[in-house]
Amino acid sequence: KEGITVAELAKKLHREPAKLVKDLFMMGVPTNQNQSLGSDEVEIILAEYGVEAEQEVVVDPSDFDHYFEEAEASQDGLVSRPPVVTIMGHVDHGKTTLLDYLRKANVTEGEAGGITQHIGAYQVKSDDRLVTFLDTPGHAAFTTMRARGADVTDIVVIVVAADDGVMPQTVEAINHAKAAEVPIIVAVNKIDKPTANPQRVMQELSEYGLISEDWGGDTIFVEISAKFGQNVDELLEMILLVADVEEYQASSDRLALGSVIEARLDSSKGPIATLLVQHGTLHTGDSLVVGDTHGRVRVMADDSGRRIKTAGPSTPVEITGLQASPEAGDRFVVFEDEKTARAIGEERASRAQERRRQVTHHVTLDNLFETL
Ligand code: GDP
Ligand code: MG
Repeated sequence: KEGITVAELAKKLHREPAKLVKDLFMMGVPTNQNQSLGSDEVEIILAEYGVEAEQEVVVDPSDFDHYFEEAEASQDGLVSRPPVVTIMGHVDHGKTTLLDYLRKANVTEGEAGGITQHIGAYQVKSDDRLVTFLDTPGHAAFTTMRARGADVTDIVVIVVAADDGVMPQTVEAINHAKAAEVPIIVAVNKIDKPTANPQRVMQELSEYGLISEDWGGDTIFVEISAKFGQNVDELLEMILLVADVEEYQASSDRLALGSVIEARLDSSKGPIATLLVQHGTLHTGDSLVVGDTHGRVRVMADDSGRRIKTAGPSTPVEITGLQASPEAGDRFVVFEDEKTARAIGEERASRAQERRRQVTHHVTLDNLFETL
């Protein structure tokens, strides 16, 4: 990262900015607090102050990338975590039916008074192992999330109706999955229908490089009926098989990091966000920055609405306690203390505001020129 102002550096070094300006002057570097320093100058100061010139020191704390990069690179206390699965495919090929079937099969009766609200993601148990499904079908959601930095999906299940075959959005789904570089499992759906022709689906998909194991390829195909639940267990097994190969892991004993699956504003509870924990463990009472807002986890609930106090990697949760509603695809970072979370949250909020102001400004100028 290049460029840090004297004031920013002072903050990171826990020095008064005025003192830093003075010290720099004494070292023969005349500056002011708003001036940007090059890495050479920063190194001189760090050496002078006896601080190890670690990359970390010059990192912008309100830029989330490095928290995620650090967590991904860390080998500390890794535990295996459930795979996170997104279901994609052409309209009417059965995505919602499959998600509903999986969800219903897992709702234990009497759970949370029988009321299960929709939180945008849920977990399914198979052979005592969990699989996390993102209940946000739609390719727009997937691309928006990725565009905003949230790369949460481990596996894409592409649903293709056996009576309809490969359609434009099937191809789109394949392209999204390939761009995200995640394994694809093909669910050939509606095999209960008399007009179902799974062989044709296999044939058509082979043209896109998805060749089934039966045909000497390495793509897993499962023939299912989402409507009747036929072979859905097998689909789950295949997902877990891919998880075994990929060995999804994360550290559970660090401050939580993750992404927003969806968010809304409740008239009485305020902003409610569904978060997916990706690294570490989220606790009630944690201070966090979410997108351009911040807050503390006041109430946390699992996918069936039960209150919980902690949530580890790959767990979707619903939380209240944020200052404002974040957006799907925003990432979140937990900080040690409320003060830091607030400072970073406010910094991000003001930057977001500045970006919006610039956009408005451009639009206004463009409009102006258009009318000339
Ligand atoms: P989506 O647009 O991909 O979410 O598709 P839906 O889940 O809404 O399904 C579209 C239609 O196909 C609905 O009428 C479903 O009942 C029907 N459908 C979905 N899966 C199956 C299946 O396995 N067999 C049959 N016969 N119909 C299905
Ligand atoms: Mg649907």
